[in-house]
Amino acid sequence: VVRVSGLSKTYGGQTVLADLALDVAVGEVVALLGPSGSGKSTLLRCISHLEDWDAGHIVVDGQRLGYQAGGERMSPADLARERARVGVGMVFQQFNLFAHLSALENIAGPLRWVHGWTAERAEQRARELLARVGLSHRADALPRHLSGGQQQRVAIARAIAPGPRVLLMDEPTSALDPALVNEVLEVIRSLAQDGGLALVISTHQLHFAADVADRVVFLAGGRIVESGPAREVLTRPQHPQTARFLNVMA
Ligand code: ATP
Ligand code: MG
Repeated sequence: VVRVSGLSKTYGGQTVLADLALDVAVGEVVALLGPSGSGKSTLLRCISHLEDWDAGHIVVDGQRLGYQAGGERMSPADLARERARVGVGMVFQQFNLFAHLSALENIAGPLRWVHGWTAERAEQRARELLARVGLSHRADALPRHLSGGQQQRVAIARAIAPGPRVLLMDEPTSALDPALVNEVLEVIRSLAQDGGLALVISTHQLHFAADVADRVVFLAGGRIVESGPAREVLTRPQHPQTARFLNVMA
């Protein structure tokens, strides 16, 4: 459902992604590992079209995003609509909830504004998802009155509300107090078990990667150094760079 090919990006002369190729199928969970600065966030931001790139193609669900028929890049507003239409959801390290909106409205609002749902349908969907992430009792709370783990669960509910085919998560637990990590991992684990989604998660949690991911992709210097079944890569890395990284993290 996601096909990345020949993806390259530079920032002011520095190569951040170098001729990168990655395919992710529906129902597959891919853990993106790699040292700081290896390009994990940039890759996810390119796939979600929050970021432009220099060369290569990104196709989601058979559709090449981000270009108009004539081949020019789309405006940011058109991109947001496109992203919604094609179905790419994103969850950020820092939650990025709307601070002035309740948990319920954080989910229902975008369904109305971006996806054009009726108020009634949006609210119903939002309540259903709050229940799913165990937060029905906090529907009216503002983000600042929620714990980090609760905020991230609302952010996940918001991302899956419109029913995306692809969900990207950029270190979804690394801003959390260790005591709150598990409640978020539980939600992600249940999404992974449901299937129906292509899930790409950048994480520093090796246990979680081993537990939930089908495949591990190890990035270094904007290149995929190693990629394979999670257990294999995590227990018997073939590349010295991966081995070194796993040693340091373990
Ligand atoms: P981390 O584990 O620390 O989150 P990462 O793997 O997500 O790292 P990226 O954030 O994708 O890495 O960054 C890749 C490279 O791109 C880094 O060298 C970073 O300094 C550079 N970079 C990222 N964003 C920008 C930007 N907006 N302007 C200039 N350079 C950037
Ligand atoms: Mg990052």
